[in-house]
Amino acid sequence: MDDCIFCKIAKGEIPSRKVYEDGHVVAFWDLAPVAPVHILIVPKAHYPNLYEMTGHPEGLAALDRLHRALPEVVRVSGLSDKGFRLINNCGENAGQTVMHVHYHLIGGMELGPRII
Ligand code: AMP
Ligand code: ZN
Repeated sequence: MDDCIFCKIAKGEIPSRKVYEDGHVVAFWDLAPVAPVHILIVPKAHYPNLYEMTGHPEGLAALDRLHRALPEVVRVSGLSDKGFRLINNCGENAGQTVMHVHYHLIGGMELGPRII
């Protein structure tokens, strides 16, 4: 995806504050953090959203690799002790703004009211 901002970050074509990277996954600070810690966890391969990603075996394998990276991303982000919230906004009604699938990893404070 030529014009996808997270593809460009994954390739190192535009700058980001990376906290973790392996062959398939990159994690970096959100530009507009909503909590003391706000990291985006992103597969390097382009999938528009979680629904599209999970509809076929290749995407499920990419999601598995992303989940396998999670403990290390949590650790290096300093969130091992007190917990965190992991959020995915999928599609229009959820308010997804960047159409490259990503998790928001947020923490570093009491996170307040829950929707669910
Ligand atoms: P969502 O609304 O769930 O699609 O989340 C997209 C997130 O990407 C927002 O929290 C933005 O602040 C963040 N964001 C957009 N552009 C960048 C960027 N270049 N570097 C880091 N975070 C970004
Ligand atoms: Zn992309």
